[in-house]
Amino acid sequence: MARIVFPTSKRAAIWQAHERRCIYCTELITFADLDVDHIIPSHIKNQPEEFTKLLHEYELSNDFDIDGLLNLVPSHRHCNLQKKGQVLPKSRALHFLSIAENKHNKAYKIEQEHKEQLKKDKFSVILQVALEEGRISREELSSLVSGYAKSRNMFEVLTTLPFVDSELKGLVSSYDVDLLYDRPILPRLHGLDKLTMARSILSKEEKIEVRTCREWAEAVLDGYDALSTYDIKEEAFFKRVYALIVALAQAKVPKHNFISDQKATIANFDLLPVDLLPILSGEESREMERFKSDGVSISDLIAQERVKIISSSPQSLTLHYNYMGLYLNEILRADLNDDGVEDLLIGSYKWTLEGTFGAGSTKVLTRFGIDQAFVIVNDIELDVKKV
Ligand SMILES: [Zn+2]
Repeated sequence: MARIVFPTSKRAAIWQAHERRCIYCTELITFADLDVDHIIPSHIKNQPEEFTKLLHEYELSNDFDIDGLLNLVPSHRHCNLQKKGQVLPKSRALHFLSIAENKHNKAYKIEQEHKEQLKKDKFSVILQVALEEGRISREELSSLVSGYAKSRNMFEVLTTLPFVDSELKGLVSSYDVDLLYDRPILPRLHGLDKLTMARSILSKEEKIEVRTCREWAEAVLDGYDALSTYDIKEEAFFKRVYALIVALAQAKVPKHNFISDQKATIANFDLLPVDLLPILSGEESREMERFKSDGVSISDLIAQERVKIISSSPQSLTLHYNYMGLYLNEILRADLNDDGVEDLLIGSYKWTLEGTFGAGSTKVLTRFGIDQAFVIVNDIELDVKKV
């Protein structure tokens, strides 16, 4: 059965409208594991008599759009596979159709916002060019944009993300998830134009090459891991773009702001939680638990010379801890979990000071008050989880 590929903005709208939960098992779905499912299977269109009969039975109008929001719901891939395109028993079908109907207005509104964005997006391109050509300053841009961006759900990507055709930095909107998911990513360090991943099945190794975020996420779901130490390092970029897409799909303009308004940044190491520090061994993780229960801060560890700050810029920080390096940088600021409070999406890259190991991840930090430290937000799934 041919799978219909929906635009990412439509997928994001349906996913958001249903609070990111699977219609069939009600558990949370990660963006990579999201399937948009037809409640009434789309193949029934090819059997017009059956279709008309079914519409009549369900008391739906004859112009019911089988590919429309009233028939589309989010589900896990494996939950959707179990359904295998079959026509559900009537009571179950009606139950799911009524849920889709309840969520319709919300999904429609989100989808329209994405489309609206597409038309208005030229504005941000013009400003970006003006900034690059030095015709306006960053401060002027900020004040110009803040009012506009707030009304448009636009956010500034603070770190340059490398793609094959260009780099991404500056203003992006929720609609950009469409473009980002299928855009080839250029890993940085070793000049590779692809990532090699491998899995072993019945002790036979299978390899696959990925270039886009979608290919990478699907490979991870299929049980592939980055192959060499180089690939593991390069994978940090794929993780970063994936996390940005997931974050953007949910990003909202915050109502309360204890980061930007307070000029707090990732470089304020005295505000950072100790659990950002890199850990490799079980012994270190037990020590970390002690730090947390004793309220030990990064500043304390600096005083004890356990942590050494190597460099910092307004939106990044490099430090050494034990025998590891850690680089943190800001990617996006927005309300990412719909609690009204501004969050900070950051990239984290750790490596052994001697040796070849290096790996990246992404995290979300937030601040709940002007006299509060940063805390790690755990209710946003930024990783691709293997089923
Ligand atoms: Zn499910």
